[in-house]
Formats: sequence, C-alpha cells, structure tokens
Amino acid sequence: MSEVILKDLVKRYPNGFQAVNSINLEIQDKEFVVLVGPSGCGKSTTLRMVAGLEEVSEGQILIGDRVVNDVAPKDRNIAMVFQNYALYPHMDVFTNMAFGLKLRKFPKDEIDKRVKDAAEILGITQLLDRKPKQLSGGQRQRVAVGRAIVRDPEVFLFDEPLSNLDAKLRVTMRAELSKLQHRLETTMIYVTHDQVEAMTMGDRIVIMKDGYIQQVGAPLEVYDFPQNEFVAGFIGSPPMNFFRAKLVKANGNLAVDMGNFQLKIPSQYTSFYDKYLNKDVNFGLRPEDISDIYPEDETWEKFKAVVEVIEPLGAEIILELSKADHSFVARVAPHSKSKLNEEVTVYFDMRKMHLFDPETGKVIV
Ligand code: ATP
Repeated sequence: MSEVILKDLVKRYPNGFQAVNSINLEIQDKEFVVLVGPSGCGKSTTLRMVAGLEEVSEGQILIGDRVVNDVAPKDRNIAMVFQNYALYPHMDVFTNMAFGLKLRKFPKDEIDKRVKDAAEILGITQLLDRKPKQLSGGQRQRVAVGRAIVRDPEVFLFDEPLSNLDAKLRVTMRAELSKLQHRLETTMIYVTHDQVEAMTMGDRIVIMKDGYIQQVGAPLEVYDFPQNEFVAGFIGSPPMNFFRAKLVKANGNLAVDMGNFQLKIPSQYTSFYDKYLNKDVNFGLRPEDISDIYPEDETWEKFKAVVEVIEPLGAEIILELSKADHSFVARVAPHSKSKLNEEVTVYFDMRKMHLFDPETGKVIV
C-alpha cells in the first residue's frame, strides 16, 4: 500500500513566512492527485516536504503506514521528476537513468534490465547512448521520467514536469503520463499551476491558495460545484463570469438584480436562496452557459448586450459582451450571427448559475 497522508501539515520558512497552513489530505494507493493553484500558493513546498527536500514545521507525513518526517529522502521510496529534468549533462541517457540504481548498489544485470524496460515503456530505447544536449525537450522529459521509473518507487512526485515544453508537446506528454500512471499503477502526486493539466490528468485535484486547500474533488465535481469564488474563477477557461448583484423579489419570483436589469431564478431553486433576500450576492455563470441563440427553454433569461470583441476559434466563438457596467464572456456556436459593436440578445441558463457570498466568497446553497 502506498497511500500518502498529510496531517495538519505546516511549513514555516526560516524568515517566518508560513507557506503551508495546516493541510490535511489523504491520497489513496494508486491515485493520481494534482495539486494546482497560482504561483506562490504552496504547492511545490508541499510536494518538497513529501519528498523530504523541505523540513516539516508541524504535522505529519505518512507514506504507506510509516511516518516519514524524519526519514531521509533516499529512504522514502519515492521518485521525483523536476521541471528542469535535472539530468547530468556529461552522462548518456543510459547512465543518467541508471545513476540512482548504481548509487543503491543494484547488480549490473538488474540495472540493465530496469533501464531497458523503462526505455521501452517510454519509447526512448534508440536514445540510450545520447547525451542530454543531443535530445529535444520532450525526449529529455522522458529520460527524467525514465530515471524515476527504474527506481520502482511507491510514490511518484512531479513538480511542473511539462512547463518547459511547447504547447503541442505538453498535450502529448499529458496523455502519455496519464497512460503511464494506469500502466504502472503507482500513486502519483503532480504539481502544476495549469488548471487544464489538472483537469485532464488528475483522478482528484486539490486547489490551493495562500497555503490553504480551497477544495478537493474529482475534476468535474470541482468544475460543476465550486465551493467558493476562488475555485470557480480558477478552474475553467475562459473563466466563470461574475456579476455584483442583489437578490430581490420581482412579481412574486426570486430574481438577481444586476442594477439595470433582473434575471429570474427558476422556481425549483428559490428555496435555497430565500435567506439572502435583499442581500448582495456575487452571481457566477460560465461562458458556455450563455448563448446568443434562442435555446427554446423558458428557464433561460434573456436581455440585450453589446458585442465588444469577437474571437473565432473554429469550433466555437468567444464573445466579449457588455451590458451597462457589466462585462462578460460567452462561448457560442461557430454559426453565431453576432456582429461587432452591435446589440445582440443573450440568453443565460439560470439552472447553471452559482451564487457566492460577497463577504466570505463561499458558495450559497
Ligand atoms: P510556483 O508555481 O511559483 O512555484 P508554488 O505554489 O509552488 O509557486 P511555493 O514554491 O511552494 O509556491 O512557495 C510558496 C510560498 O513560499 C511563496 O510565497 C514563496 O515565496 C515562499 N517561499 C518559498 N521558498 C521559500 C524560502 N526558502 N524562504 C521563504 N519563503 C519561501
């Protein structure tokens, strides 16, 4: 079993800065968990504590059923892949991959077998006698992963391993690492600031901000049910639209008042929100839940807005729109008839709306 448990984990750097604030997380055996969040949120610090590269200030880290706080990195049975690959430039690929095993005094035959098997899995057998400088970025990245695989660790740790690759290669390597995880059936903890990477790779994602965990869940769960405004805005591209609004009663219905216009809340949801009547709220709606074509559904609310920007992306069009002092983004079908600087009727799918408390940022349910 190679579950990883973080219990009340705190990291305080020598200058007194607390980068990780009492984190609790249980990563299951064979699970692929992605830590994601903006720069400085403490994700790398967390990973480095699991690796043993940073001391734990408070709390515990368990790998399997062993508390590893005081276990040296080399004895934790983990392997880490870094952003810069950290390959030895003077050694060929084979020697780079074999290095950790040689240090651990593995027999030569065993080293040979493990390196060749890993090279086969990663499709780099033909590169074994090359030096790192003779490799492309993607190939170097595979070697770095290969060096981790040969160790047959209980847990793989990845710190932004794809961020030095170009966009296309990143997509390919994302899929390869996911496949690799299924093949190796090993626990993986992966750190990235890229929410797309997190969404596409993780069994579960952990969204962090300012050293705190904001939400943990399966990618779609987090996407559909963000627990606070930060998560709602961080996950999804283009991001969720937010509108400052007030909950009001209009003609007997609960509605969100945007200042110059009101949107009716479908009756099946009103009971959730009664206690916020006449209070300020933040109304959130994802760009794909806004249309410029009549959706033939009465629960969608409509109003007129001005088209400020049109971005045709082929399979879809991104529209930037404005209405009074609100601006928002819609993701519409490629056959949209909307024209720049003209007024268009937009439809909001009110069943998909999110409401947040403007003071706490927490979702209102
Ligand atoms: P990035 O994606 O930019 O690497 P991150 O989420 O991985 O960000 P960390 O590297 O974990 O963030 O850093 C978390 C916070 O701790 C940051 O504010 C950073 O400035 C601070 N920090 C990191 N290392 C140290 C250190 N040695 N001393 C003091 N503060 C540090």
